[in-house]
Amino acid sequence: MTKRLTTTAGAPIADNQNSLTAGPRGPVLLQDYQLIEKLAHQNRERIPERVVHAKGWGAYGTLKITGDISAYTRAKVLQPGTETPMLARFSTVAGELGAADHERDVRGFALKFYTEEGNWDMVGNNTPVFFLRDPYKFPDFIHTQKRHPKTNLRSATAMWDYWSLSPEALHQVTILMSDRGLPKTPMHMNGYGSHTYSLWNEAGERFWVKFHFKTMQGHEFYTNREAEEIIGKTREGYQEALFNAIEEGNFPRWKFMVQIMPEKDAEKTPYNPFDLTKVWPHADYPLIEVGEMVLDRNPENYFAEIEQAAFSPSNIVPGIGFSPDKVLQARIFSYADAHRYRLGTHYEALPVNAPKCPVHHYHKDGQMNFFGHRHGSNDAYYEPNSFGGPAEDPSVAEPPLRISGDADRYNHREGNDDYSQPRALHDLMDDDQRARLYMNTAESMQGVPEEIIERALVHYDRISKAYGDGIRAARAKLAAGG
Ligand code: NDP
Repeated sequence: MTKRLTTTAGAPIADNQNSLTAGPRGPVLLQDYQLIEKLAHQNRERIPERVVHAKGWGAYGTLKITGDISAYTRAKVLQPGTETPMLARFSTVAGELGAADHERDVRGFALKFYTEEGNWDMVGNNTPVFFLRDPYKFPDFIHTQKRHPKTNLRSATAMWDYWSLSPEALHQVTILMSDRGLPKTPMHMNGYGSHTYSLWNEAGERFWVKFHFKTMQGHEFYTNREAEEIIGKTREGYQEALFNAIEEGNFPRWKFMVQIMPEKDAEKTPYNPFDLTKVWPHADYPLIEVGEMVLDRNPENYFAEIEQAAFSPSNIVPGIGFSPDKVLQARIFSYADAHRYRLGTHYEALPVNAPKCPVHHYHKDGQMNFFGHRHGSNDAYYEPNSFGGPAEDPSVAEPPLRISGDADRYNHREGNDDYSQPRALHDLMDDDQRARLYMNTAESMQGVPEEIIERALVHYDRISKAYGDGIRAARAKLAAGG
């Protein structure tokens, strides 16, 4: 039977075709509150889009733990045999909500695991590193990816000006300009926690950890030319690919792996293991297989479940901890803050964000509090109280994070080796991969003033003379029209 159409207040609507007007040729009446409600809702159908990672694609699935890392962590979600429902959202970084999917860009790889001890969000990227190591530079860097204030166009000059003055970015830029900078679909890329986090076990021992999700579909990519052709036909290639694969039962999978570093090693590695521009070489800290993630269900409502999905690195659970990674610490603040702004105070209570375990807190009131108190007693609205309200549980206390140092503004560009790791990456590429890397880099430099390009090339030469010369040769080829 057809459901009866109602107002938002539930009153039945008799006519959803014709406004209430003073005669067939007359104006509408202010009392047509049903028309007003419809127009008012239309005006409010958008919320602020994410400043970064606005364009995204997502699906639900499961994380299954098949390995055993219980020696390192007490996290229930990571215990052998555990299956945890989850949500994934993939995204590009720079483009706005309507941007084309097949643009060369870093991809967001955000996961929310609805664990029995709260939500664990792993808000990573498809790259193991990032463009910066000090969060002070985050807004500056993002400005270079967004539109110029006057032209309202993206600016290659801004990007290369910033990168050429920030050699720590060139590891990530190398990945961006390589085949991994333009995956065919979100299913054909890895995900990385990127930051160093920590795990801690029942005995209170802490281990540093890197999270990896390795695509089981294989790495596939498009060249810039192929992507241009696709964008000419559809701007929604990722949405189509992911949505259709899941509808057709071709569920994408990733192997979940970790690298583990004993706590004390962090004092002796030649690189800072908490530096977001660095990886931990596999030879030093081999990958350990932990489980498998599968995506097998599309959301029923994109806006409610993907646009309103709120991932934040601040969401950890007992057995998982942070690290001294400076950028991680800034993101712990800024992601939750972005959602408070974008979605509102109680964004965690929205169905897609709500934990699947009991939630008991004393945050009170505020816009859109639709959940009320759930503690059993109306008198328990502060803490401590004598009315049986929820109380802390010392058994989940994290071991102390052993860090010390003098508060100062330490120069993050001094004394860092920004060249060895991009060199290792450059060296592991074959000739064809390198040729594409050089050409993609050269193409992205088009229109940039020569002095900025020369400054960038100095850094490329430091990574490897072959790398710098490769870009020079690709630029010459472009200049010759090839
Ligand atoms: P390994 O040879 O053990 O690992 C190399 C890694 O590079 C593999 O994980 C591979 O991923 C990945 N890779 C291959 N091509 C690209 C590309 N175009 N962009 C990004 N990653 C790519 O060496 P190391 O561990 O010593 O690392 C060497 C370099 O590899 C690093 O400096 C870093 O640039 C890069 N890398 C290292 C990672 C790490 O965690 N150690 C992770 C990713 C990259 P896959 O296995 O999926 O093919």
